[in-house]
Amino acid sequence: MSKAADLGAQSPDVKTINHYINGETVAGISGRYADIYNPATGKASGRVALANIQEVEAAIASAEAAYPAWRDTPPAKRAQVMFRLKVLMEQNAEKICALITDEHGKVLNDAMGELQRGIENVEYACGAPELLKGEHSKNVGPAIDSWSEFQPLGVVTGITPFNFPAMVPLWMWPMAIVCGNTFILKPSERDPSCVMYIAELAREAGLPTGVLNVVNGDKEAVDVLLSDERIKAVSFVGSTPIAEYIYQTGNANGKRVQALGGAKNHAIVMPDADLDNAVSALMGAAYGSCGERCMAIPVVVAVGNEVGDALIGKLKAELATMKVGPGTDVSNDMGPLITKEHCKKVKGYVDLGVEEGAELVVDGRNLVVSGHEEGYFIGGCLFDKVTPDMKIYTDEIFGPVLCVVRAESLQQAMDLIDAHEYGNGTCIFTRDGEAARYFTDNIKVGMVGVNVPLPVPVSYHSFGGWKRSLFGDLHAYGPDSVRFYTKRKTITQRWPSGVRESAVFTFPIND
Ligand code: NAD
Repeated sequence: MSKAADLGAQSPDVKTINHYINGETVAGISGRYADIYNPATGKASGRVALANIQEVEAAIASAEAAYPAWRDTPPAKRAQVMFRLKVLMEQNAEKICALITDEHGKVLNDAMGELQRGIENVEYACGAPELLKGEHSKNVGPAIDSWSEFQPLGVVTGITPFNFPAMVPLWMWPMAIVCGNTFILKPSERDPSCVMYIAELAREAGLPTGVLNVVNGDKEAVDVLLSDERIKAVSFVGSTPIAEYIYQTGNANGKRVQALGGAKNHAIVMPDADLDNAVSALMGAAYGSCGERCMAIPVVVAVGNEVGDALIGKLKAELATMKVGPGTDVSNDMGPLITKEHCKKVKGYVDLGVEEGAELVVDGRNLVVSGHEEGYFIGGCLFDKVTPDMKIYTDEIFGPVLCVVRAESLQQAMDLIDAHEYGNGTCIFTRDGEAARYFTDNIKVGMVGVNVPLPVPVSYHSFGGWKRSLFGDLHAYGPDSVRFYTKRKTITQRWPSGVRESAVFTFPIND
């Protein structure tokens, strides 16, 4: 890798992440920067340029200029770039994961899992020629043929969150560009380095100049993307208040928008569940990646007090052995939270839970990781006897805080889930097929697991929640993304037969 290692440092002392516009790493000109921190040490590791209107407009102009030739490039040729990108990402996986861990904090092997799931989206994008095949009907009328084809939209954009800095962007731009669009990515300002590196790999894979641009920034950059009429569609993943803002603003400006938001995923544990396996699954789902996953399980609903008591006992024992420390040490189960402010906020929620009357069974607030005293660490926390009126139950905490709620029946547990404002993921632990089928049929949630705690769809299905976890109609990646990033056009065709036909004034029918 030639230029990829050089992320555009402007001074020898401060690593500066700039923009990737028109195939080049371009220094920021706005004069505004945000610090990037290593969450395990609490030290600033660099800064990221925050784009202004001119910089975003330069990226849009580049994407617009690249569009006509890219749209006319055969899908099989576009897919070949994806094949090469997949190989390059696999060859450079360790470097990508090191960048993720340095800026996000997650444990390296968790970063590897994230990257693998991201690469699977690139693999799916390799199928573009098959995915973009239209629908054809011969003889829809006498000597008349009709077909539907899927045409790209033009310049489209993606705005992504901090918690999956490699994977979530890979949900978006590979599919958008193999469908023939050109793309502007606005990654999270907290951990942008891996995105910049992957953009360099895409260039090395042969992606033409301007097809993918990356602008770093904050609300100022996002608002340009939402208002510029050259942008035809917006994919967003992040918190619900911002998702709603993006959806409403983008729609008001005539754009196609899909905006994925926050979550509060519940798992139900039935009295007949394999409790030991359920507990192992819940540990990973609640505390993996420090709870900073939109598919994490922060709520367990125990059906029956016997199950509730047994669960609490087993979770408490597991938490006593869970290892927390820097993500560079793969023997750790959990790394730090993303920022000092977020760490304070999560600890504040634990304080609040105690005030609200929940029973704090395991308190991780005072954890200190030796040698990393300034890192944003918190130990796993476990609450029992949580009730639906508590803020620790209603709010997305996005930290390693697991709330156990007690219910008397499956129906009561399901009513809780259905009443919650979010509907991203959920799971039931049971050995009862009838209960599982009733649950999957009726629960008002977009992604449902049966003895699978993180039912994140594979790349050839699509990802999305219900209720206030998704604004828009089409889910992310998979088959829905072909529809999201293309417009259907239906052509009806007949060639003159040479026989003179008289005018028909009635509505055309097939008689
Ligand atoms: P966030 O909403 O703060 O930021 C997401 C993106 O929006 C970032 O690129 C950020 O720069 C931008 N942004 C922030 N404030 C903005 C504003 N006022 N106007 C315009 N743009 C703005 O989210 P985050 O903290 O980076 O990520 C965590 C959140 O993302 C959690 O709520 C989590 O549940 C959610 N998430 C959801 C999914 C999903 O698929 N549903 C997946 C991952 C994360």
